[in-house]
Formats: sequence, structure tokens, C-alpha cells
Amino acid sequence: MRITVVGTGYVGLVTGTCLAETGNDVCCVDIDRAKVEKLRSGVMPIYEPGLEKLFERNQKEGRLSFTTSLSEGVEHGEIIFLALPTPPGEDGSADLRYVLGVAEQIGGLLQDYKVIIDKSTVPVGTAEKVLRAIRLRYEGDVDVVSNPEFLREGVAVEDFLKPDRIVIGTESERARALLTELYAPYVRQGNPILFMDERSAELTKYAANAFLAVKISFMNEMAQLCERLGADVDQVRRGIGSDERIGKRFLFPGIGYGGSCFPKDVKALMYSAEEVGYPFRILEAVTQVNEAQKVHLVHKIRRYYAGDLQGKRFAVWGLAFKPNTDDIREAPALEIIRELLEAGAEVAAYDPEAMSNVRGVLGEVIHYSETQYDCLQGADALIVATEWNEFRTPDFERVLQALREPVVFDGRNVFDLDQMQKRGFHYESIGRTLVNQPLNLAK
Ligand code: NAD
Repeated sequence: MRITVVGTGYVGLVTGTCLAETGNDVCCVDIDRAKVEKLRSGVMPIYEPGLEKLFERNQKEGRLSFTTSLSEGVEHGEIIFLALPTPPGEDGSADLRYVLGVAEQIGGLLQDYKVIIDKSTVPVGTAEKVLRAIRLRYEGDVDVVSNPEFLREGVAVEDFLKPDRIVIGTESERARALLTELYAPYVRQGNPILFMDERSAELTKYAANAFLAVKISFMNEMAQLCERLGADVDQVRRGIGSDERIGKRFLFPGIGYGGSCFPKDVKALMYSAEEVGYPFRILEAVTQVNEAQKVHLVHKIRRYYAGDLQGKRFAVWGLAFKPNTDDIREAPALEIIRELLEAGAEVAAYDPEAMSNVRGVLGEVIHYSETQYDCLQGADALIVATEWNEFRTPDFERVLQALREPVVFDGRNVFDLDQMQKRGFHYESIGRTLVNQPLNLAK
């Protein structure tokens, strides 16, 4: 099939490449000239495991092309995906200016029937707004479909090729038939395509992300409680995760959720709820807990140094908002670094993929290290902020030798508590305590 994808970011590029992989002829459109130039010359602008290989193959086979021209894109595809940004506005609502702007332009370019697909995460009612924007300049046949994306950065290719489910919001039989054909290669293992109305599809995406955020904030609060009650959140996590109703995944406490989706989607859903007169109380708490959790590790650090971080040097392992991505949008590591710098500390950081993005945001206020061990040289303590696999079993002798003091603050619980003590570290993590201290109960 002839497919167009407008917006070639984390979602658009994965979507375009994975659709080309099953034999479709895909044209990707982006407004960013530099990015399109890079892509045309075979350079991958983002880090996403497995994507580059597919990208190279499909580009070579002539199934994947890139352009800055929307009219070229609209002419090309019988199905046009919108994978455009929907950043939070100042009030927390999803900013639809990119989606609706492109929709109106598409209206001016359409000449015959096409299916326009919202792949961006958009609030309920957006499919209707997109149709209205198209109708400003086009009277003919068109279907607007909601098809939210559930891929996770870091495993996006796998998620796209083998999705748990595909959600499609449309009441048009014609669009339904086209999309059933398009997605058939991705659901051969029996994973479902769930057809529903547009509004329910739009809300499903927010419901999924908000629910996952609830799980994370719940476990972060549980970790706080464990620290105060002398329990171990890892044990509690295992204890509840083996209950099928709860499930093992997304029960890891840490330094708060970040990334380009959870914070913005939780806020956008709260805004939508507020708009219809139903304050979503759980999500208000989820957001507050998350904000507090982002600085929880800094509180521990301050406490250890009796409030004085002036002149201390910290080695930070991990900058991306999670492992296996170079994405640093709303990364908790950056918030921690800002707090440390503000308190007069110095920071040396290492991340396998995200350092150039961080340099673009923070500039030279921190030191960027070549390796995870260089980063430790002369540091007073190590902070683990992202759980990249290579941080899990480091050469602890080298760590001990390089650090000025054997002190580790672990925001991701990557090391074993007993082992760290045996190795001679002062080790603090999230929701786990070594010594059973006397309980400080009110009664
Ligand atoms: P992104 O910022 O990585 O990519 C957006 C792309 O759109 C950029 O390349 C930008 O240059 C391009 N663009 C902006 N205006 C344009 C225009 N007028 N014409 C053509 N291109 C234009 O964003 P993303 O992370 O890919 O997210 C896109 C959407 O998908 C968002 O709504 C997001 O919430 C949703 N989503 C993201 C993820 C994720 O993990 N990143 C997962 C699921 C859903």
C-alpha cells in the first residue's frame, strides 16, 4: 500500500520504517529540513534499538523516502498518518496546533479519498476537530481515524512489529477494511485489532498511560512507606507481583516517571476531565507524588552531607529518561543534576546514548565523560539515575578505586543491598533499608 507519515520523530520514524518493512511504499514528511537531509543521506537522527537496520534496508529497497513537502506526501499516500507533537500547553492541555495546522493544509491538498490517521496522542474529540479542519478546504470523500500508538521507546520496533493490540477508532467500513489489510502482517499471532468509536480510541491511549503512571506513583509511595517502616520494597514488589490480578510489570519504584509521554498525558487527561466538570482526583495525587519522588534522591544526598553540597563532585550514571533511548524529555536525571548544581556541587555524567542531547540542553555546566569509569574519577559519590544494563554489574573494584569515598546513591535499585555493604559502600537506594531500625510509630 502507499503510505504517508507526517512527522518523523520517535513515533513517525518507527511507524514509517516498520510499515515499509512489510512491503508498503512509505513516504515520510517532516518540517525539519536538517532532519530530512540526514535521513535522506542514511543517517539515523535518534537512537532506537533495531531501527537503523530496518531503516537502511527499506531505504535501499526504495520503500522508504523522505521529504519536506507535504503536498508530495499527500499525493503519495492513500493512508496518511499524523505522528506530530502534541506538547502540553501552559494549562496542561494538549496543544493541537501542529495536528490541526497540518490537517487544514491537507484539506487544501486533497483531491480524492484518503484515510487520515491520528497517531499522535490527542484528547477526545480531536478526530472530529481534524475532520472540521480538513473540511475548511475540502468537500470530497475522506475518513479521519484515531489510531493511537502504544510503542515504548527503547523497544519501539518490537512493539510496532508485534503489538499487544492495535486500537482503531472509526465508524467507517471503508477505513476499517483498509486498516485491517494494512495491519494484518502485525497481528498474525492472534493479537487483536480492537475497533471502536473515535472518542473511545482517543481516551484509551490516555487511560493506558495514566494507569501506568498510577502504578509507578503507587509503588513510589510504597517505597517511601518501606523506608519509614523498615521494610524492603523489593520484597513487597515480588510479594504482590506474583498475584496475577496485579502483575509483575511496572512495579519498580525509582526517581519518578519522566519522558515525553507520561507527564504530559497525565496532565492532558486531568485537563480534559476538569473541562467536563470531573476533577480526576487520583491523577492529581499521582502527579504530586511524582514531583516529590524526582527530588527524593536529592533529599537523601543532602541528608548524608548534612545539607552542604558546596564543592562536592557527583558522578551521574544515566541521563536518558529510561534505558535504551537517547530521549531526555522530562528525564528525572536532569532534574537531579539541576538541584545538585544549584546547591553548589559539580557533576560529571555518563550516558551511553543521551549525552549529546543533554549537551544541547545543559551546555557545558556539567562534565561529559567518555566512559562510566572516567566519570567516577575524583567524585565524592556515584548517583545511578538510569538503569542501563551496563551499569548493573560494573567492576566494583574500579568503582571503589576511582571514587574519593565509597558512596553510592542508587535511584533505580540496580545493586544488591547486602552485596553493596559487603563491598564496603555506603549505599542508599529507594524503599530498601538494611538495618531494622526501631519503628517510630505514633502509638
Ligand atoms: P517527536 O517530537 O519525536 O516528533 C515529532 C516530529 O514532527 C518532529 O520530527 C517534528 O519536526 C515534526 N513536525 C512538527 N511539525 C510538523 C509539521 N507541521 N509538518 C511535518 N512535521 C512536523 O514526537 P514523538 O515522540 O514522535 O511523538 C509524536 C506523538 O506521538 C505525540 O503525540 C506523542 O504523545 C505520541 N506518542 C509518543 C510516543 C513516544 O514514545 N515518543 C509513544 C506513543 C505516542
